[in-house]
Amino acid sequence: MDEIKAIISTDGKTRLIGIIGWPVGHSLSPLMHNSAFHFLGLNYNYIPLAVRPEFLPKAVASLKTFGFVGANVTIPYKTEIMQYLDKLDESAAETGAVNTIHCINGECIGYNTDSEGFIQSLLTAAVPVAGKCAAILGAGGAAKAIVAGLRKHGITRVLIGARDLGKAESLASIATKSSNLVEYYAYDWQAAKFGSAITGCDIIINATPLGMWPKYGECPPLAWNKVKEGTVLCDVVYNPVCTEFLKTGAANGCKTVDGLGMLLEQGRLAFKIWTSQKMPKNGIKNLLSAAINNINENYGKCEYKKSNF
Ligand code: NAP
Repeated sequence: MDEIKAIISTDGKTRLIGIIGWPVGHSLSPLMHNSAFHFLGLNYNYIPLAVRPEFLPKAVASLKTFGFVGANVTIPYKTEIMQYLDKLDESAAETGAVNTIHCINGECIGYNTDSEGFIQSLLTAAVPVAGKCAAILGAGGAAKAIVAGLRKHGITRVLIGARDLGKAESLASIATKSSNLVEYYAYDWQAAKFGSAITGCDIIINATPLGMWPKYGECPPLAWNKVKEGTVLCDVVYNPVCTEFLKTGAANGCKTVDGLGMLLEQGRLAFKIWTSQKMPKNGIKNLLSAAINNINENYGKCEYKKSNF
């Protein structure tokens, strides 16, 4: 009986947090948060909520009905869910997307922690943002969050390259509306002009799913001969941790920042919102890293020489 008690961690007082998406089976967030709850002795349980598109409004209402503390929001609902929430925190309003919900006093409040999570991953790697130029590949949800974070931290020039020029222009125009201090450019990333423009960039970020498991071999088609040595290359993809993009960049003399840092930091910020406690950093990072390596067998292990910062 004692053994059974030790395994069952959910009881009548357990507080619930979910992750809303469709699908959600790929998410590492349940592992990350449940491990942190366990480590800190907090009586919370983080569960996957695979919500079909037609049930999204009901899913948000159900968070209140069942007394959830909150939820994460993942693909494809980060923008659509905003209309069903009671309030938006500044982080969500500025980004135009929600990845974290806090249910408090009968209201569901939307936050965006992807944005600050990305910046924290840069700062942890000692990459400065203020006064720098960044090129972003992709113009979807992650790109939106990254642009908002960079803008808040004083980036002065942003190039957005996407295969759909209309989306790149639309993201650039949203960004420009809330700031006149920053220069924004939109490119079709295959265009020669984009290739030339990245020469002046300090940071280049892959904000597309290219290279994500199981399509390890994919890599954004960058003009590598135009990338300056010492440029910081970041990937939002964290599975595998060492993507083809980062490996190619390292081979071309770039410093690299992987997507695991962003995953961890956005999770830590959400954890703080829900529990007012700090998620332990290194232990959880090691655990996530091991889980990813396990999925990818040997592929996810970093084989390139790590940058020295
Ligand atoms: P999204 O909203 O669907 O946007 C994806 C972007 O990538 C779009 O601009 C899309 O272009 C472009 N794209 C997709 N496939 C492409 C291809 N084959 N060639 C060129 N461009 C392509 O997705 P998202 O939410 O931004 O997520 C993007 C990636 O970030 C995912 O892998 C996700 O797991 C990862 N992510 C990681 C974290 C983290 O914590 N590390 C956080 C958030 C997201 P179109 O619009 O033309 O399709």
